[in-house]
Amino acid sequence: MKLAIASGKGGTGKTTVATNLAVTLAGLGQTVTYVDCDAEAPNGHLFLNPTLSEERRADRLVPRLDPERCTHCGACAEFCQFNAIAALPARTLIYEELCHSCGGCARVCPSGAITETTQPMGVIRLGEAGPVHFVSGTLDVGVATSPPVIRVAKQAAPPADWTILDAPPGTSCPMIETVRDCDYLVLVTEPTPFGLHDLALALEVAQSLSVPCGVVINRAQPGQSETHALCRQAGVPILAEIPDDIAIARAYSHGRLASEALPALRTVFARLADRLTAELYARA
Ligand code: SF4
Ligand code: SF4
Repeated sequence: MKLAIASGKGGTGKTTVATNLAVTLAGLGQTVTYVDCDAEAPNGHLFLNPTLSEERRADRLVPRLDPERCTHCGACAEFCQFNAIAALPARTLIYEELCHSCGGCARVCPSGAITETTQPMGVIRLGEAGPVHFVSGTLDVGVATSPPVIRVAKQAAPPADWTILDAPPGTSCPMIETVRDCDYLVLVTEPTPFGLHDLALALEVAQSLSVPCGVVINRAQPGQSETHALCRQAGVPILAEIPDDIAIARAYSHGRLASEALPALRTVFARLADRLTAELYARA
């Protein structure tokens, strides 16, 4: 089962849920791979403390122009869906930071003026965190687009009963790259007006990708019903509620797993694991 843990905005507790759930499922005898897809700021290693065994470079192909051969016909710019090429009457410009490495421009160029060259993007780290297989993708400094690194990190994940993808925050391309081929999406939110607004956006993304999803409310407090109302309206289940407890924030700031610092949370994550198993098997 491939499970993505995402949130409409940063700081909601996404990594707390992803890491604690990974350890909980492993404790239940399941094989688990945790993949940190937050390539711009990966932090799952702080809580899982893995022993790393391998480091791989993640590269991508980008177009290179031979100005001597270019006839300025404009076919490449017309083909590129990402506006990464500007064909001017006397000059053709390639904006590598906008390129999605589809390779199309090199194929449509009638004069062979475009070739592809390898460009370093980031690094993939693999290891073991106790019984949990650990994978992490990290973008190189100065590289603007993380989806190619996320793609390589996902491909590097060793097979397991559960693959848990810790998604980047927000609802833009990196989150979509993480979530799009998952069996299920867990959206982590908090009961604040910002949390509610961003949850609504994330629910729209899940719907547009046709990925089934459920919600975990972090820092839950009694009497706050707006999140419940939104989920009811969207027909999405609330899978778990994590209480607002200073011990969880302290554990986070010390790089400790919340379920280790607050034993009562083990029950919350065990129930979440049961609930997810039921949700996934109901859809299988
Ligand atoms: S490889 Fe694809 S995305 Fe990149 S510039 Fe060429 S057509 Fe555009
Ligand atoms: S398709 Fe080839 S020849 Fe035409 S503008 Fe692009 S690089 Fe130049």
